[in-house]
Amino acid sequence: MKVKNRKFGILGMARSGISAATKINELGGIAFISEHKDETEIINSKQIKQSFHCEFGGHTEKLLQNDLLILSPGIPRNIPILQQAEKQNIEVISEIEFSFRIKHHHSKIIAITGSNGKSTTVSLIHHILLNAGYNSILAGNIGTAFSSYPIENGDIDFIVLELSSFQLELIDTFKADVAAVLNITPDHLDRYKSFEDYAKTKFNIFKNQNSHDLAILNLDDMTSTKFIDEVHSSLKYFSSDPKADIYFKDGTIIFGSQKFSVKNASIKGPHNISNIMCAILAVSPFNIEKVIIQKSLETFSPLAHRMEFVTEVNGIKFYNDSKATNTDSVKYALQSFNSPIRIIMGGAGKGEDYTILIPFLQKRAKKVYLTGDTIDEMKKAFEDYVSIESIKEFEDVIKTAYSESEKGDIIVLSPACTSYDRFKNFEERGNTFKEIVFRLK
Ligand code: ADP
Repeated sequence: MKVKNRKFGILGMARSGISAATKINELGGIAFISEHKDETEIINSKQIKQSFHCEFGGHTEKLLQNDLLILSPGIPRNIPILQQAEKQNIEVISEIEFSFRIKHHHSKIIAITGSNGKSTTVSLIHHILLNAGYNSILAGNIGTAFSSYPIENGDIDFIVLELSSFQLELIDTFKADVAAVLNITPDHLDRYKSFEDYAKTKFNIFKNQNSHDLAILNLDDMTSTKFIDEVHSSLKYFSSDPKADIYFKDGTIIFGSQKFSVKNASIKGPHNISNIMCAILAVSPFNIEKVIIQKSLETFSPLAHRMEFVTEVNGIKFYNDSKATNTDSVKYALQSFNSPIRIIMGGAGKGEDYTILIPFLQKRAKKVYLTGDTIDEMKKAFEDYVSIESIKEFEDVIKTAYSESEKGDIIVLSPACTSYDRFKNFEERGNTFKEIVFRLK
């Protein structure tokens, strides 16, 4: 795509917006950034004003003077200015689509979406590619914008992208050489009209693929398999069922004639076996030696806030699963241990039905400690079925769970909710949890 001398309007001054604007300026285009928040609410507004044409406090008609608009993922698509843009035939794309259009054709794209496991899986794929000697970058929803890398130069072999459903909404020509949907479970029901709408958006990841590309799906995920008509590329499945192209049986992952042991893999639990199988399939077109992949499974550093072991205090083990922001991830947290679990849940809700956790809590949880905005909602869902206690203060809930524990118990923070009721993000919630736990020592 030609950028030089073209005018780009960017809605949103967060990471991906600033990154796209920087790239546009670098390539000789003209970037105009529009932010609905007031200038005083933007931390580095002074610096932004010095570097870019911009406006604060609302999206005005100035945006309509541009050749193309780039929309940040958090902004709804139905705001009035976008309706006006549509009337004037101004194209609106995402930062992912923009980056795809300017990237060098040499760089291959491996894109992963799903309700849970995206960050873990893309990080593992990236780790395998680096170990195989490739120049790989990790971008997208994981935290670094796609356009923030020198993607136009052609010296990057692989771009491994984590894509959220929001980022997949405004995709037009974007095509991945390898694309996967890990799983689709209820999440973000506050943003989508229906579960089906949410699921369909995820399948946009396969939209422009052709028979030379690889699509990966989870055969164990009922929802994903319902949409296979949307896939036009070569399709491979991972599963616990030997019918799949890659499957898990008796502690071993079997992929054709290759066998991978997960005994010494750095990430554990049934959900991570799925993530590992997806990662092995994702790199399979690139002839990486089996030993490199096996070694990578063992040397991969698990990500923080995902079933992260914190420490042991007087025989009680603490795990930080702050990134568990929906019920499905909590379901897997509960299945990852054999010892009794005291689980801390609650935060800002997303409209999910918590009752689906009841059988898992009944089987695995010694007690459920509720905290955050969802206390009442969760109490109503669980109180007739499991032992619960509601404690408003975050520090108190951790201390109470600890004081009631016996040697051998496990305390897990696995909220099933976002952190926005009390924290900036899941990282801040997880770090606060860890600080409080270390203070118990
Ligand atoms: P995402 O980037 O999709 O949010 P993460 O890898 O950050 O995924 O993990 C988020 C949460 O989901 C963590 O609590 C983690 O333990 C859990 N999880 C990871 N992989 C899976 C999976 N395949 N299925 C269900 N839950 C998972």
